[in-house]
Amino acid sequence: MAPRCWRWWHWSVWPRTRPPPARSTLSFRQHFSTQEKTPQICVVGSGPAGFYTAQHLLKHHTQARVDIYEKQLVPFGLVRFGVAPDHPEVKNVINTFTQTAHSDRCAFWGNVEVGRDVTVPELREAYHAVVLSYGAEDHQALDIPGEELPGVFSARAFVGWYNGLPENQELAPDLSCDTAVILGQGNVALDVARILLTPPEHLEALLLCQRTDITKAALGVLRQSQVKTVWIVGRRGPLQVAFTIKELREMIQLPGTRPILDPEDFLGLQDRIKEMPRPRKRLTELLLQTATEKPRVEEAARLASASRAWGLRFFRSPQQVLPSPDGRRVAGIRLAVTRLEGVGEATRAVPTGDVEDLPCGLVLSSIGYKSHPIDPSVPFDLKLGVIPNMEGRVVDVPGLYCSGWVKRGPTGVIGTTMNDSFLTGQMLLQDLKAGLLPSGPRPGSVAIQALLSSRGVRPVSFSDWEKLDAEEVARGQGSGKSREKLVDPQEMLRLLGH
Ligand code: FAD
Repeated sequence: MAPRCWRWWHWSVWPRTRPPPARSTLSFRQHFSTQEKTPQICVVGSGPAGFYTAQHLLKHHTQARVDIYEKQLVPFGLVRFGVAPDHPEVKNVINTFTQTAHSDRCAFWGNVEVGRDVTVPELREAYHAVVLSYGAEDHQALDIPGEELPGVFSARAFVGWYNGLPENQELAPDLSCDTAVILGQGNVALDVARILLTPPEHLEALLLCQRTDITKAALGVLRQSQVKTVWIVGRRGPLQVAFTIKELREMIQLPGTRPILDPEDFLGLQDRIKEMPRPRKRLTELLLQTATEKPRVEEAARLASASRAWGLRFFRSPQQVLPSPDGRRVAGIRLAVTRLEGVGEATRAVPTGDVEDLPCGLVLSSIGYKSHPIDPSVPFDLKLGVIPNMEGRVVDVPGLYCSGWVKRGPTGVIGTTMNDSFLTGQMLLQDLKAGLLPSGPRPGSVAIQALLSSRGVRPVSFSDWEKLDAEEVARGQGSGKSREKLVDPQEMLRLLGH
């Protein structure tokens, strides 16, 4: 069903195009006269959602022009800054995104932060439609005492650090402790645990076959890591874990490392497996097998020689981060013991009143990502952390759309993001066809470039990115890596001659 306002909305209420600044008048006029049949669309964010939305629009409308605005100097969002550096195959989607960016009807404008350098109303004036695909960049706070202690990090920042996100390069985690605790039991938690526990020689092997783009600085710190045990803590039980079987299997098979699972946590689960949906059934079977079955001789020998370990700690909720005696860093975490109440989706963890202190020198909170509003003119549901929308149409704002994590919340893989971005693209094109978007010409990037220039903002193009890309690949060859990521924006701008 279309939002209520869709019926009464009409071109006459669309804000009028502001006259462009004098020095761009000529190009604006040329644009104006030649682009009448051309829908000008802009997408905010160049992660999977932004690129898949652009791909759909360009494929299904032969005239549409799509401009992608991105706040970083480089494209691809979490594919570059989130996906684990030892999962190069996942990053192959970059090839498809690159093809989209090479379309002569698509342009990438990096180094432009929407909400700061240009506002959403300004974009709406310049384009026929605007799609917000800016992801979920914040992390959920733990909201417990001691969270601010040195040695406590969000998994988001830790991931950004090893993946070369410029804003996280100062993180410098101290890995001289024996034990780390990760709060949360999703795929990001397992990624972080795997990176922390991968033996240095295995990291070297990944380097040799160019299967990692982990940053040099992170690799240096991880080589010196003293972390031997990682606890992955969840408020609920084995049936509620949010990670998937592929990531679990990788952990179980991690060289030099053994799993610690308490068989008691799995009591009674065998009987319930039959009723479970297939993915949950397979996941639970693997957990159960690892926790309760005797390993074969070869596997037993491998486990016996393992020098590192990881464990799943169920029914524990973080209550307080405990300081070292001098109060200068984390020394442990107090966990409230929980039990489950309710059934199915409504299952909740409630405290039993018991607590447990777990000594550790590092706490990483991986309890979720979160979107934030980027412009006061855009409706935002602070509770759900999403832009309220109906199949990608922003509720009560005609001509404004959203896709990806900011549309449906920070869950799901790249494939899920692809499907929901295609759906948003489809809705936009339906509205265009139905005459629900402004019919007159729009100046598109011409007007926005003039605005940015008047504000001293210098965007970077996709061919600029390709120069940086070539530089990264060349630097990586020296150290046997697929690339050595550039992490300093000033250096990147210098390399581009900006
Ligand atoms: P993002 O990828 O976050 O893209 C949003 C983009 O918007 C970013 O480039 C950001 O810089 C930009 N932006 C933000 N604010 C602004 C602004 N104001 N102005 C302009 N631009 C802005 N999925 C898999 O399938 N396989 C995996 O192995 C995998 N690993 C993951 C690991 C981690 C740590 C995380 C967090 C996620 C992982 N995912 C994985 C999930 C996948 O990354 C997401 O499904 C997907 O990236 C969501 O796409 P998005 O475009 O909505 O958000």
